[in-house]
Amino acid sequence: MGGVKTALRQRHLGLRKQLNAEQVYDLSQKAQQLVMALAVFSAARTVGLYAPHANEVDTELLSSCAQAVGAVVAYPRIVHGTMEFVRFDSECTWQPGKFGILEPSIGAQGVHSCQVEPELFDAVVVPGVAFDSAGNRLGYGKGFYDRFLAQCTPQCVFIGLAYAFQLEDKLPREAHDVALDYVVTDAKITACPASSRI
Ligand code: ADP
Ligand code: MG
Repeated sequence: MGGVKTALRQRHLGLRKQLNAEQVYDLSQKAQQLVMALAVFSAARTVGLYAPHANEVDTELLSSCAQAVGAVVAYPRIVHGTMEFVRFDSECTWQPGKFGILEPSIGAQGVHSCQVEPELFDAVVVPGVAFDSAGNRLGYGKGFYDRFLAQCTPQCVFIGLAYAFQLEDKLPREAHDVALDYVVTDAKITACPASSRI
């Protein structure tokens, strides 16, 4: 199983690396427009986003949209090897955290104490290396999102965000893998009833 996942990761990360900045921007706009068309996203009062790295689909538009309607917007950070989410607001700056991924930061010491507990989220937008139409997700191989999403409530909606070429017919799924409710790409929204989380 590990070998299959590793080979898929290498191939998909290679494909994504080939995108230029204009493609990242254009495809990200399309994918985010489709996320905003989802009522479960636009109605969410507390939203988890991610700071894109390595050509991941951008989330800037989703952030502006959620903040404009007064939703709490939170981003991941890694503390002692665990992923947690912290609130992003106008006081925050961005500091590179583990793996060089930007994390919200406040003040000269970069201290940010405003953690948003997993049970509070209405929607979490999830990055990944590849997805399938059953809501399976291939991440970077550390299981951070599997551990985090397992702590959210059954009502919280998990939305995978990706480019169309990141959709696979069927991904390997292990017992600890948490399935998503929707996978949204620049081309389409896939509702994943197989995840049956509600
Ligand atoms: P990813 O989801 O990032 O693609 P994997 O699903 O392959 O990565 O998981 C990576 C590692 O994380 C695996 O060794 C797995 O056992 C571990 N893991 C994932 N979820 C949990 C969990 N809820 N509790 C303990 N270990 C977990
Ligand atoms: Mg996993």
